[in-house]
Amino acid sequence: MKIGIPKGLLYYKYYPFINNFFNELGAEIITSEDTNKKILDLGVKFSVDDACLPVKIFHGHVASIKDKCDYIFIPRFMEVDKGQSICPKFCGLPEMVKNSIPKLPEVISEPIYGIGEKKLWDFSRKIGKKLNKNKKDILTAFTDSLKIQKAFNVGRDDKEYKLKIALVGHPYNIYDNFVNMDIMKKLNDMNIGIITEEYIEKKSIDEEVDKLFKRPFWAFARNSYGFATYVGDNKKVDGIIYISSFACGIDSIVIELIKNKLNNFPMLVLKVDEQTGEAGMETRIEAFTDMLERRCS
Ligand code: SF4
Repeated sequence: MKIGIPKGLLYYKYYPFINNFFNELGAEIITSEDTNKKILDLGVKFSVDDACLPVKIFHGHVASIKDKCDYIFIPRFMEVDKGQSICPKFCGLPEMVKNSIPKLPEVISEPIYGIGEKKLWDFSRKIGKKLNKNKKDILTAFTDSLKIQKAFNVGRDDKEYKLKIALVGHPYNIYDNFVNMDIMKKLNDMNIGIITEEYIEKKSIDEEVDKLFKRPFWAFARNSYGFATYVGDNKKVDGIIYISSFACGIDSIVIELIKNKLNNFPMLVLKVDEQTGEAGMETRIEAFTDMLERRCS
């Protein structure tokens, strides 16, 4: 049994659980390649024009492996944090893909409520049953996968660099090096360290969000806002780079909220879409980091 796992969207945060779970159930995992030009072109070909870049790229990942597997896993994330909504594109992702890409293998798309072990067990049990596994085997695979996921720490908090920048945005923009054009390496090569939201305590992020007149109800909006305003207000970093997807409504609101809160704190917004060129992006990063260096000297 071959299960296709597209390396897009929230794969970067949850792949330890997903890969291990299917593996322990006896499946052979067919993971798509890291995002590249071929995958992007496939995504552009198969998705609707006004989709955001991460959704297009996800389509490309699916198209690249659909003929190599018996099932394809298209996660339907409904909730990733208790009481927080997620962008509707995640809830309808299986339907978007099924309607855009012909000749898919059978799709596994049980809803995922990542808000506690009981809900995750419901999701795992349904998938295990679909693959004709018994309860004992499903439970073992589930327990092991949960342990692996909990031990996994995505994110960065670089030490001993001359300057430090907070990298803000959705995980699929921050951790997909094709989308962000390897920004982490570029910054490190310029002697600039990085911190990501995973290295700031949830309590500090929550306190920042609680100061808003109205709490944002999107999980990503909450995290990005709370993280950026906490590190900016408390001078934990020298500047902020926000990597934003063109055509993302959530990003456009959050960026304005952060700017309003932090006034003149240095912040660079890099909007990415399929036309974004590396040279232009590098020039903007260099201009921003030069300015940060001048402020510090
Ligand atoms: S949150 Fe924004 S970038 Fe992410 S899937 Fe939704 S529209 Fe696209």
